[in-house]
Amino acid sequence: MVEYSQGLEGLPPYLFAKMESRISELRKKGVDIISLGIGDPDLPTPGFIIDAISDALKDPKNHQYPTSQGEIETRQAVSRWYKRRFKVDLDPETEISITIGSKEGLANISRAFLNPGDKVLVPDPAYPVYRQAATILTNGIPISLPLTEENGFLPDLEFIKNQGRKAKMMFMNYPNNPTAAIADRRSLKALAQTANDLGIILVYDNAYSEFSFDDYKAPSILEFTDNAIEFHSVSKTFNMTGHRIGMAVGHADLINGLRRVKSQLDSGAPKYIQHGAVVALDSYPRSGTKPEFVTRNMSVYQKRRDALIKGLAKCGLKCQVPKATFYVWVGVPGSGADFCDILLNMGVVATPGTGFGEHGEGYIRFALTQPEARIKEAVQRMTASKEIAKIITKGGK
Ligand SMILES: *Cc1c(COP(=O)(O)O)cnc(C)c1O
Repeated sequence: MVEYSQGLEGLPPYLFAKMESRISELRKKGVDIISLGIGDPDLPTPGFIIDAISDALKDPKNHQYPTSQGEIETRQAVSRWYKRRFKVDLDPETEISITIGSKEGLANISRAFLNPGDKVLVPDPAYPVYRQAATILTNGIPISLPLTEENGFLPDLEFIKNQGRKAKMMFMNYPNNPTAAIADRRSLKALAQTANDLGIILVYDNAYSEFSFDDYKAPSILEFTDNAIEFHSVSKTFNMTGHRIGMAVGHADLINGLRRVKSQLDSGAPKYIQHGAVVALDSYPRSGTKPEFVTRNMSVYQKRRDALIKGLAKCGLKCQVPKATFYVWVGVPGSGADFCDILLNMGVVATPGTGFGEHGEGYIRFALTQPEARIKEAVQRMTASKEIAKIITKGGK
């Protein structure tokens, strides 16, 4: 028998891998599954991006190794986009690296800066990559930074000042997965200031900056500090999760660390996919407002969001109407895992909040990744369920 590394043994299975086996069991039994579990857009990549990728794929110069940091054309496109969208200036030579999806970059950034035993502040609940791949797998020690509803799911700066004194790195993510919370400009400014004062490397995940409703426009952390690294991706904005392309931007020293790690590990995202990202980012008008595709996409999610929230309210489950992301985070009576089990038995997949950290207890997350009609069907099953009605009346949260 082989012995797995302590880092690997220290990890629970990746959240969605575990749920998949239970779901396929139910499918075999003939249960009609409505999956609102994983945050993966169900809609296709827009045609203008697919055309650009196919054209680039036919060009033999794109059949060779890319560079791990990304082609200069791609980095220039990222620089143009940050200027348009956030009014942030970035030097494509030193302040940008392309990644193989932002998950790859978020997982690998710690290899550049962490030594075994170094502490990392990780929001709880959060996207599991920060704690698991970026910290534990790199032999770092995660310190949970609770995000609570009373605090609008924003970090408590006093907690960071006390607990974070010896931390080397901190992860942060707004608009937030899984809570769908957003951070106002003042909070982000104070957060960046606190990290800088304490000398903690601030790793900001901005995967959902474009995934906003109504007039809300999410900022970049680089609007408040030069001393941070921000991860971004076209995955969610342009329905491109399967193409695996993202970017890291920020302080040249931090980008340099990531580049050095990546040059040892990988040979970069395929050039034709990089070309798709260039076309996607360049679809933003000079004003930095959302292009037509993104606006239309968001109105689809908005209808789904409203259908779900209306249905949940009918069941007696109240929640904030999210201003961003394609998640709905709902407090439930009792254990979130038990509640999700009941939902699963009626063919509705949601994710227990504890899948994102222990402070996720008492919540569940729905991803709006099914057509509106299917969401209405899910809601109907829930409102018709006596079991759910009983828990909610009894629990009275
Ligand atoms: C989906 C997601 C990502 C990354 O997706 P990639 O496809 O790897 O770019 C990063 N952070 C959060 C919080 C996400 O939800």
